[in-house]
Order: sequence, then C-alpha cells, then structure tokens
Amino acid sequence: MNMNRRDAMKMGALGVAAVAATGMSGCTSAEVKPAASAGGGKVLGKHKVIIIGGGFGGLTVANNLMKKNKGLDVLVIEKNDTFMACPVSNTYLGKLEGMNLGTFVFDYAQPVEKHGYKMLKSEVVAIDRGAKTVTTAAGTVGYEILVLSPGIAYDYEGQFPTWSKEKIAKVARSAPAALIPGSEHVALERQLANMEDGDVIITVPNGKFRCPPAPFERASMIAAYMNKEDIRGKVIVLNPKSKFAKFGAFMESWKDLYADRIVYVPNAKIEDVDANAKTISYSTAATDMDDATNKTINYEVLNLMPNNKANPVVQMASLKTSDDSFHKVLMNGCSFQTATDNDVYAVGDVVAHAIPPSGQTAVWAGKQCAAEITARLAGKSHTLAVKLTPVKAGNVCYSMVGDKPEEGIMVTHDFSWTGKVIKGKGHVPKAASGKFRSKGTAKALRDWYSGIMADLFA
Ligand SMILES: Cc1cc2nc3c(=O)[nH]c(=O)nc-3n(C[C@H](O)[C@H](O)[C@H](O)COP(=O)(O)OP(=O)(O)OC[C@H]3O[C@@H](n4cnc5c(N)ncnc54)[C@H](O)[C@@H]3O)c2cc1C
Repeated sequence: MNMNRRDAMKMGALGVAAVAATGMSGCTSAEVKPAASAGGGKVLGKHKVIIIGGGFGGLTVANNLMKKNKGLDVLVIEKNDTFMACPVSNTYLGKLEGMNLGTFVFDYAQPVEKHGYKMLKSEVVAIDRGAKTVTTAAGTVGYEILVLSPGIAYDYEGQFPTWSKEKIAKVARSAPAALIPGSEHVALERQLANMEDGDVIITVPNGKFRCPPAPFERASMIAAYMNKEDIRGKVIVLNPKSKFAKFGAFMESWKDLYADRIVYVPNAKIEDVDANAKTISYSTAATDMDDATNKTINYEVLNLMPNNKANPVVQMASLKTSDDSFHKVLMNGCSFQTATDNDVYAVGDVVAHAIPPSGQTAVWAGKQCAAEITARLAGKSHTLAVKLTPVKAGNVCYSMVGDKPEEGIMVTHDFSWTGKVIKGKGHVPKAASGKFRSKGTAKALRDWYSGIMADLFA
C-alpha cells in the first residue's frame, strides 16, 4: 500500500519553488515587493475578507468563500512558503510504507490558482480592530471582515519559568516538539534516523493541546520504527496526567504490540532538561499505588512537547479569551463569529467551542464559518447557516498504532449546537475482532488523509 502525493491527492503540483521564489502567489506586483523593515508603514490596500493563517482552518474558509462567491475579494495571509500537514505525520516518523516528506508538504499555488483568492506570504505582527487593519512584515492591509485561524504556539516560558531565552532556544532546537507545521518534523525524523541504541523520551503537554492523541500515536510509531530497525531502547512517555485520549485503545495496543518497548509514566512533571548531557529530570507525586519520585534519566532522542497556547495573533487582536493558560477565543454562541467583535471570526484550534482541536474539526468549522460569512454578505442572518440538529461524526480522528500489519484506532465525535457553545461527544469504537485496533481503521486513516488533502488542495 504505497502512498505518495500522486496516489494520495491525484493532483498536479505547481512547484513549491515557484511559490517560494515570489514569496506569494495570486498577489498584485505592488503587494509582492516586501517593505524594507517590518510593517514599514507601507499600505497594501483593503480587502473584503482577510484570513490569517493558511492552515487547515484558514484554507478551508478561503476555498469555501470562493466556491460560494467567485468574485469575492479574499486575501489569505500566511507566514510560511509551504503547507506542511501535521495529521498523519507520525507515520513519517514511523517510516511506514510510502510515507515520506512529499506526502505532507504542499504548495499554495494550486488552491490560489483554482479558487482565485489572493495570498500574501508574510508574518502578521499587529492587528488594529479599531482601524480594521492587519500589519505584516510586508506592510499594512485593511479588512471589512477578519478571520483568524493561526493555530497554536508553544508555552515554554509558562511551563519552565526559570529557563533563559537561550536555554529555551537550545531545548526547542535539540528536542523538537513537532506540533506546529514546519521543519521540526524533519529535525525529529533526522534524529531518529541517526540515533544509536538508547531511549526515546516523549513528554506530553499539560492543559489543552493540539490533537490530544498525537503524542501517543507518535509513541506507537517510534516504537514500530525502533522494532523495524532493531534499535535497542525504550520509548518512555512522560504524561502530566494519568489518562489521555483513546486511553483504553492505546493501552490495549501497547500491551499487545509494544509490551517490551513502550514505558508509560503517568502524573510526571518535567523539572529540567540538560540538552548537553542529554538528560531529563521529572517528578511524580505520591498516589495510593506509588511513592513520589524524582528521577533524572538519559535520552538518545527527546521529543519535548511543551504546553500549548493560542497563537499570539489572538492576543494581537485583543479578543476575549478563556481564563485558562491556553486562552481560547470566546465565540458568539454556536457560531464562528467572536464574542468580542462582529467583524472578527475564528476557526481551528484557537476557538473555545467544546470540540476537539483537530484538522478535521478545523475543516468542518472552516466550512461553517464560510457559510456564515456568505450569508452575512448576502444580507441574511448568520443563524441561517447554523444547523439545529446534532452533526454525526463531525470529527473522526484516527491514530496509527501498528506497522506490518498497519493497524489503527479511532474516535468519533458528534457535535451538538443546542447549548451556549458547540459541543462534541466522543466514542471510541471496537472492531469486529473485539480489539480496538484493526487493519480496516488503518486503511480508513489513509483514505481520510487523501480525502482531506484533496479537499484542501485538489
Ligand atoms: C503530530 C500531529 C498529528 C495530528 N494528527 C491529526 C489527525 O490525525 N487528524 C486531525 O484531524 N488532526 C490532527 N492533528 C491536528 C491538526 O494538525 C490541527 O488541529 C490543525 O492543523 C488545526 O488547524 P488550524 O488552522 O487551527 O492551525 P494550522 O493548521 O496550524 O494553521 C495555522 C497557520 O497559521 C499560520 N500562522 C501562524 N501565525 C501566523 C502569523 N503571525 N502570520 C501569518 N501566518 C501565521 C501558520 O504558519 C499556519 O500555517 C495533528 C497534529 C499534530 C501535531
């Protein structure tokens, strides 16, 4: 079951280099030239709708706005040259058949050409909701409606308040988190490819974080890789909580497939990392079953996933957020309009609806948000776009747990719209065998990925 971009997406690719060379696509030449300094006081014009973030949520909003209204003036602002998909990327670390970097990296030229929106390749550095402007490293743009889908940021400072900026940079570099699209996945894959015998340590974020099953799927895929390459060592998972997403399904799979490989440490608090000595210190509190511990252990590869928080773009917009350390954007009831400003919408991992922070949810939300904005621009109330019946399987999240044979587990969430926020109720099904994992679910995972990427890019 080999998979490459052609198999997965059946799409022709306009080269990444073409986008990277101009830094933008679909822009006027006046917009292409970057300002000499950040912002630079340069005014780049005004757009009906500006979307910040060309990830799962942002691209979906852009694509669907244009599908509904070909002539709409939409600008997507994205800081990266290329799109890197996080979903399913753990199979790249596991070196599953056909899973290579090309399976996960896409250029923006294709959706821009197909749908006809504009794209500015630049980093947003400020938002003025009063003036209705967004300032980027290339200049300032005005908007009538603003959509935020900027994803997450790492909160090293909150989790490790005594660490210096230099230490944070060193740990981030040498123990890549690989939760945000970009080169961290490549760095982690390189470290695994070059590793000697020894232990791989995975630390799980505390609080709300992107794709809650991802650290545990990653443990499974790294264990599969070490088995395949005959690398001696353990995969040690340090989790600040006792349980986690799809807990029973992962535990069953780990017991059956990786009993001698994966060591799960619940209630573990990371105390320190010495990136030069390659050691990590953690503590566990006393429980009914175990005494408190303080340990310092060596690692060969460390995947330190720090706590997550909303991307700083949310703070730039001065929106009302949740009181927790993540600071999710508070929404206007069961809608994707923010509670703070009728002209500002949000989708993706930053929204405070009680639905899982996943690519699938971001795409679903992006479609709802585009419908809301389309209705508004047509002079209709946004509530017309809201369905009052529960949405079956609004989120389906797969995790690959086995290789040779490939086996996966899954959770589905039904979304309900009747309360003050949109809520998701999860269900982890068992296969006909009585086990949680199955080959059929692994195939469904591959099919899901092909479908969702085709939806964004084909
Ligand atoms: C390892 C892993 C596995 C996962 N597996 C799954 C899975 O199996 N299924 C699933 O559904 N989901 C999965 N996810 C979750 C999924 O990737 C996210 O939930 C999804 O990407 C959220 O979409 P988003 O639009 O909110 O953010 P993103 O997709 O991260 O998009 C945000 C975009 O905003 C851009 N941006 C940020 N700041 C700025 C700025 N200042 N200026 C300009 N641009 C900016 C970023 O560059 C980025 O392109 C996984 C995640 C990880 C890390």
